[in-house]
Amino acid sequence: MKKIRIKKQGWLILLIIFIVIMMTINLNKEVVMIDLSSYTISEVKEYAEKNHLKLIIKEEYSDLKKDTIINQSIKPGDIIKKGDLKIIISNGLSYTDIYKEYQVNELGFIPVMMYHGTQHVKSSETAYTGGNVDREGYQRTTEAFIKDLEFYYQEGYRMIRLEDYVKGIIDVELGKSPIVLTFDDGLQNNINVLGLDDEGEIMIDPNSTVGILESYKKKYPDFKITATFFINGGLFQQPKYNNQILKWLIKNGYDIGNHSYGHANFKNTSTEQTKKEIARLYQQLDDIIPNQYVHIVALPFGSPFVDTHPNYKYILEGTYQDYHYKTISTLKVGYKSDYSPYDKRFNSKFINRIRAYDNNGLEFDIEMNFKLLKDTKYISDGSKDKIVIPESEITNINPHYQEVISY
Ligand SMILES: [Zn+2]
Repeated sequence: MKKIRIKKQGWLILLIIFIVIMMTINLNKEVVMIDLSSYTISEVKEYAEKNHLKLIIKEEYSDLKKDTIINQSIKPGDIIKKGDLKIIISNGLSYTDIYKEYQVNELGFIPVMMYHGTQHVKSSETAYTGGNVDREGYQRTTEAFIKDLEFYYQEGYRMIRLEDYVKGIIDVELGKSPIVLTFDDGLQNNINVLGLDDEGEIMIDPNSTVGILESYKKKYPDFKITATFFINGGLFQQPKYNNQILKWLIKNGYDIGNHSYGHANFKNTSTEQTKKEIARLYQQLDDIIPNQYVHIVALPFGSPFVDTHPNYKYILEGTYQDYHYKTISTLKVGYKSDYSPYDKRFNSKFINRIRAYDNNGLEFDIEMNFKLLKDTKYISDGSKDKIVIPESEITNINPHYQEVISY
């Protein structure tokens, strides 16, 4: 009895080895992708089915005949593995038709909004017009802020990161326009923390600025919510939570920049003081969010007002007590939108902002600025790689940008 059982087990082991060998051979049977460019869509469907690929078809504008295959995600000659095969086909419409229809202009103006705080009071309860909490409209009611966000979205604006604007990276869908949000002074109402949850994560007041922005991430995912917060040495005025706040903001798609350590007025500081004010804030950010913040300074009081001021160069670069820093851009207090990064008149180091306040359509408030932008704003072609402009703008292009399409 014992002998027979051993024999049986032996057969079983042999059988398993045989199956494993067969499987290995089968796995090694590689199929190589072919060039699909001359295929019809039904032929591609058949091919994908045969090779167990999930076919995903996307249409794109192209001067090529309708349904011509423009691109395939698995390149000819590559070994086919299980997964998706994405192909892009022509929808037969020429780009020029589309540019005209959407009035694409990637040399149009871009609004960089300057906010400070948002206070959770009713607009009717303030002593000032249109949801301004103070006379200058630096702080706004949450009600007014929500109205602003709705307005930007409905007017076709989509958010981009300030740093991307400075660097000339604009990723906005076809026919839409970029907008940048900034907040100065690191006020508690920017991101008011109510406490920690069971996991030790900060709980954000839904009525503080970031609470509202987060609700808009859900309401309009294509709004691409983001903002840059310019802070001083007091960070967000919440010593118990400050570090966690900074990390949370970075993790959730917001940016942190430098508003000087002590809200200095750089018109009157000495060279040493200037360097100290900039360096100390960068050092503080290095301690909490190293390599994750933006090297951009929002100039307190918008000062100095000209980049020829002797202190200005120390805001851009300097060494303070062996600590070397570099700033890629500075923000003015300003009153209007600024040039497209592809415009030869754009100064990426010294950028204009619009004061986000309400003054009944006067004095360069939001309403006035967006009226001016109606015919002059940047309108995207939907691709971040090429620059599309109307022929009338051709003399304004920065020669650094080679791949420009004019229509
Ligand atoms: Zn300030």
